[in-house]
Amino acid sequence: MHRQGFAGQMHRSASLTRFMLEVPGGEDYGQWDDDRIWAELEQRLAAAGRPVLQRGEFIERDVLDLRVRVCDPMQHGRVFLAGDAAHLITPAGGKGMNIAIQDAVELSHGLIERYGGRGDGRRLGRYTQVRLPQVWRHQEFSNLMLSLFNTGAAGGNADFSYALRRARLGLIMNDPQFARWFAHAYVGVDE
Ligand SMILES: Cc1cc2nc3c(=O)[nH]c(=O)nc-3n(C[C@H](O)[C@H](O)[C@H](O)COP(=O)(O)OP(=O)(O)OC[C@H]3O[C@@H](n4cnc5c(N)ncnc54)[C@H](O)[C@@H]3O)c2cc1C
Repeated sequence: MHRQGFAGQMHRSASLTRFMLEVPGGEDYGQWDDDRIWAELEQRLAAAGRPVLQRGEFIERDVLDLRVRVCDPMQHGRVFLAGDAAHLITPAGGKGMNIAIQDAVELSHGLIERYGGRGDGRRLGRYTQVRLPQVWRHQEFSNLMLSLFNTGAAGGNADFSYALRRARLGLIMNDPQFARWFAHAYVGVDE
């Protein structure tokens, strides 16, 4: 979290890392050459007592798609939707693959009960009803994470929004009750 926008480093292996960098909306990404990206990452990720970033080669670049959408119902006749086809969620909360798998598990149970010999279509018939509350819960969490880290997502006065975001981060770090809720919402378990 930084006044100039979000920056993140996610280690993928001993020699590979993914960086994320928020740039002002409407900006031409062509203007962001490697040196400018490194300089911005170094500034935003600098922390007291931590080594400076080790520069390396960018092997892939992408612009993150932050669109969101939920299909209600998650089916049309005999066509059932699961995963990103049913609901797009920002990557901010790391939830998309998780809820895609949960959809697939629920759908597979419904299909087996309906077509696996028992001929019972009740679970399949409740697919949307069972999955949508979960999907919205994760959308809400993802939205919270996005507005916590990203300057652009918060909107309004930059100083005010930065102070608000720091206050929320303070709750996560220092308030045991809020921290517990956050951990539960983030990884789905309490302990
Ligand atoms: C940068 C980033 C980080 C992420 N991090 C996380 C994370 O930490 N945790 C998490 O849970 N989620 C994360 N996600 C989200 C996650 O990747 C997606 O939500 C998940 O992959 C959705 O799975 P899916 O099977 O629904 O769709 P997809 O994974 O998109 O699979 C759809 C497949 O269908 C194929 N396809 C498309 N059209 C056709 C066609 N016409 N015919 C045949 N095949 C076709 C595509 O090639 C693709 O292989 C992240 C996403 C991004 C972008």
